[in-house]
Amino acid sequence: MTRRKLAAGNWKMNGTSASLKELKSLAEAHPNPNCDILICPPATLIDRAAKTAPEQIAIGGQDCHPNATGAHTGDISAQMLADAGASHVILGHSERREDYEESDADVREKVVAALGAGLKVIVCVGESLAERDARNTLDIIGGQMAGSIPDVVTGENLVVAYEPIWAIGTGKVPTLDQIGEVHDFIRLRLVRRFGEGVGLSTRILYGGSVKPSNAADIFDVSNVDGALVGGASLSAADFSPIVTALDNA
Ligand code: PEP
Repeated sequence: MTRRKLAAGNWKMNGTSASLKELKSLAEAHPNPNCDILICPPATLIDRAAKTAPEQIAIGGQDCHPNATGAHTGDISAQMLADAGASHVILGHSERREDYEESDADVREKVVAALGAGLKVIVCVGESLAERDARNTLDIIGGQMAGSIPDVVTGENLVVAYEPIWAIGTGKVPTLDQIGEVHDFIRLRLVRRFGEGVGLSTRILYGGSVKPSNAADIFDVSNVDGALVGGASLSAADFSPIVTALDNA
């Protein structure tokens, strides 16, 4: 089964109006990409990014509230993201799991809400260094997948991102064998739970210190269908070679 690759950028709490020019530069460098390109800017920029980004760049949110409306000061619903022009949302990022103590059940509720609003979801899973050292990586990933992904997903609207917590923003990257082991495991779990239709068509991204210098090697690993990129997605100059590596993978 061929899966269209996905290069996704997570700007986190970075970016002001001036950053919108990066979208234009990125689009100019990739007028006809062989892969999907997604940028998830801070919520303040989604509307403008969606209006200004050329069509080959999709725009996403970084989180959403499980409710559609209500008394939740500071929160944003999936409907609001969709209304602002987002097509995707990242859910269960380890920074949110840590900073806001989001549980798998919380993430699952958000996934249901996002799918209900017509968004595609990128569900993040990943182990801490202590969990890897204790040889619990696959148990942790399996548990997060079982708890965070609801039954109602399809291969079209679900993307899973494997992001080892210890590799995010640290410059440390697992070995290619370690990445392959986890991605193969995620694929097996998807097929076992959802069957081949959904399991083989769901894209699995790697995230954690992906850079222009290591992207091509990572994209060669089996069951790596793209990347979720933090720091190196902030500028078109850094993200573009990653997109090119994925285009050529
Ligand atoms: C991330 O936070 O999703 C991420 C992968 O960050 P970085 O690329 O900066 O490690």
